[in-house]
Amino acid sequence: MADEYDLIIIGSGPAGLTAALYSGRQQLKTLVLEKTLIGGMGSVVPHMENYPGFEEISGKQLIELMKKQALKYADIQDRVEVKKIEVDSEDKYIIHTTKDTYRAGAVILATGSRHRELGVQGEGEFLGRGVAYCATCDGPLFIDRKVLVVGGGNSAVQQAVYLDDIGVLVALAHRRDNLRAENYLQALLKEREIPIIWNSTVEEIRGDMKVESVLLNNRITGEHKDLPIDGVFIAVGEIPSSQLARKLGVELNKNGYIVTDKAQRTNVRRIYAAGDITDGVNQWVVACSEGAVAALSAYDDLQIKK
Ligand code: NAP
Repeated sequence: MADEYDLIIIGSGPAGLTAALYSGRQQLKTLVLEKTLIGGMGSVVPHMENYPGFEEISGKQLIELMKKQALKYADIQDRVEVKKIEVDSEDKYIIHTTKDTYRAGAVILATGSRHRELGVQGEGEFLGRGVAYCATCDGPLFIDRKVLVVGGGNSAVQQAVYLDDIGVLVALAHRRDNLRAENYLQALLKEREIPIIWNSTVEEIRGDMKVESVLLNNRITGEHKDLPIDGVFIAVGEIPSSQLARKLGVELNKNGYIVTDKAQRTNVRRIYAAGDITDGVNQWVVACSEGAVAALSAYDDLQIKK
């Protein structure tokens, strides 16, 4: 017999944990399923200054607080991957995972996104041997060593500033001549005097047993340069983790993000979506808001059904 819940939330980032809090407080029997570790990509944010109520806090600290609060109202299971979702004869969702099978009246997809790869030679080969995607996870391995952060968005600049903070010798390479990152982050980059290699793409990551250099291409001059380096942190955006949604027939936009209405309902009955898996502003506070709305919509719909 599958364990029965009113609502199952897939993903335990800021959206999933907030949904759990709101759902549990409405006395829906709630379960959160997380494929990796609680917090997902939220845990690797080095520091935030724009989450209301906290002048400065790291993603890891905030996830710990949110997890503790959510656990008062919901069950949470980590390292459990959802493999398949079906509908049974009683119109309930059957959720098959790598461990157990669950049954629920409604599902919130808060599956977030994953790192986009650069797709250059050497990237896969040197993963964990100089190639990294997470500064807070791998940065301490590079103290007093030279690394290149690739990208021009908030994540790239945040990672560069964090690496500089912990004593890594960091430079940033961006493919254009201006950054996409928010102004306050750009100001931090300037304040720390972190060098920026403009108009440049990484064409290849080179080494023997570990990363030794990157081949840079200046897109304006066409000049190629072999830059000696110990590590490459890649922060060139995210790809929505929408495989489960796709299989369920949930409508996705052209970039693979889930389409919802204002109440976070998808086109599939009693399936909701919240957080980075939906398109729009990718901010912690927005993910929390969407998680709360999704949970309250599920509550409304489940009450109507009863
Ligand atoms: P992003 O904003 O999409 O930026 C990706 C960066 O990588 C862009 O500068 C892009 O260059 C560059 N890029 C993409 N493909 C590339 C390639 N093949 N080669 C070289 N460069 C490449 O991604 P993100 O920084 O990961 O952020 C994702 C979302 O999370 C955003 O909405 C962001 O605002 C949000 N976020 C917010 C915070 C915060 O609130 N502080 C922190 C982190 C992330 P172009 O600029 O030329 O396109």
